[in-house]
Amino acid sequence: MTNSDAAVLPMPTAGEDIIEAHESSCCIVGGGPGGVVLALLLARRGVGVTLLEVHNDFDREFRGDTLHPSVLEIMDEIGLAERLHKLRHVKLYGPTIRAANGPFRPVDLRRLRTRFPYIMLVPQAKFLEFLTEEAGKYRNFRLEMRANVQRLVEEDGVVRGVRFQGTDGWHEVRALLTVGADGRFSVVRHLAGFEPIKTSPPMDVLWFRLPRLPEDPMDSGGAFGGLGRGRILIALDRDDYWQAGYVFPKGHYQELRVAGVEALRRAIVEIEPRLAKHAEYLTDWHQLSLLSVESSRCPRWYKRGLLLIGDAAHVMSPVGGVGINYAIQDAVVAANVLTGPLKAGRVQPSDLAEVQRRREWPTRTIQAIQSFLQKRVIANVLRSQETIRVPRYVRLLFRIPLLRDLPARLIAFGVRRVHVQSG
Ligand SMILES: Cc1cc2nc3c(=O)[nH]c(=O)nc-3n(C[C@H](O)[C@H](O)[C@H](O)COP(=O)(O)OP(=O)(O)OC[C@H]3O[C@@H](n4cnc5c(N)ncnc54)[C@H](O)[C@@H]3O)c2cc1C
Repeated sequence: MTNSDAAVLPMPTAGEDIIEAHESSCCIVGGGPGGVVLALLLARRGVGVTLLEVHNDFDREFRGDTLHPSVLEIMDEIGLAERLHKLRHVKLYGPTIRAANGPFRPVDLRRLRTRFPYIMLVPQAKFLEFLTEEAGKYRNFRLEMRANVQRLVEEDGVVRGVRFQGTDGWHEVRALLTVGADGRFSVVRHLAGFEPIKTSPPMDVLWFRLPRLPEDPMDSGGAFGGLGRGRILIALDRDDYWQAGYVFPKGHYQELRVAGVEALRRAIVEIEPRLAKHAEYLTDWHQLSLLSVESSRCPRWYKRGLLLIGDAAHVMSPVGGVGINYAIQDAVVAANVLTGPLKAGRVQPSDLAEVQRRREWPTRTIQAIQSFLQKRVIANVLRSQETIRVPRYVRLLFRIPLLRDLPARLIAFGVRRVHVQSG
């Protein structure tokens, strides 16, 4: 599988006859975490919402299954935390990193002051199904699967909705507000003419599954990692398997591909000898999924009648695994700010600007921290020909309570906690 959700834009055809059109206060393009949460929050506050998703299900292998404490608090605020916890899940408290000079634990969520001091790992498909089922209880919510959005409906410089191709032809949704929540390859962003500013982090990641064996678990905390010679390995406990990531310098994918699975197995075992038996299960390159790491941000997230949220507005580097968290926080802020104007039937550019204003600085701040870590820490590890040691001063710094808990707080809540506005 690939990590691309990019819908291929066909050339405009002569026969774009609309076979069905309907109206909605808000039309959300993209049923990922950002779009689904926004749809649910608007629906429960009585706003008419149409959610359009190009796929016919929510199944997303390796799109991240992490629900951070901030997301769990948001679920709690809308009364869903308890039922969410009934889904099969694993709790992640923080990885233990195996370095040349012994284990190191940079993040421990257990010390956080929250009802949910852990990252919940739940298959993204199950999470999205759970939320859309919940949204489906509201008559003002409409979900269209296999809805491939390919056009914006624009009149006098104002976006009035979208056109999508369904299995039976072209459809149109007219809306007061259109939200592009269609991910890192956003078609809506492209159609609106927004160009994100991209930075290129120094690494890419290969994701794959390794089996759990009777002699596991390996460490407490639900995750472990290893620093190799120019490589980083991470593994997350998924109950019946390990979800593993092999981090390597950007631009080296072809080299790895040519060296083949056998060489990759050897590299994994070199970093983490306890994975020797597990690695034997990797026999075919098709078991691996490449995440081409990027980080980007649109200078502007809105125009009249249109707003971008989540990855469509800003792709987050995987450092700290905050992409889902940030998409959902965008959705919460968008719902808080826009429910009133949507219900009043008038969404002003200033309302949309307010969403960007509230969410842009937390995004910029976390991207700056990610960029610092990528340049100063990860790039050094990836350049090294030796197995990396964690310097003594770093270990000492991590004994100071305020500093020790800072990474956990940032990962858990982002720069600023976001709450669902009631009423
Ligand atoms: C391999 C990989 C691993 C990741 N791991 C993690 C992780 O562990 N933790 C984490 O927090 N983040 C992770 N991320 C990032 C995370 O997936 C995103 O940050 C997050 O999903 C963003 O949510 P979103 O709702 O903005 O967009 P997305 O989740 O990308 O959802 C966009 C949706 O829009 C739909 N869509 C696209 N085009 C159209 C169209 N034309 N018409 C209709 N629908 C359309 C897509 O099918 C998709 O369902 C990972 C990403 C990748 C690629």
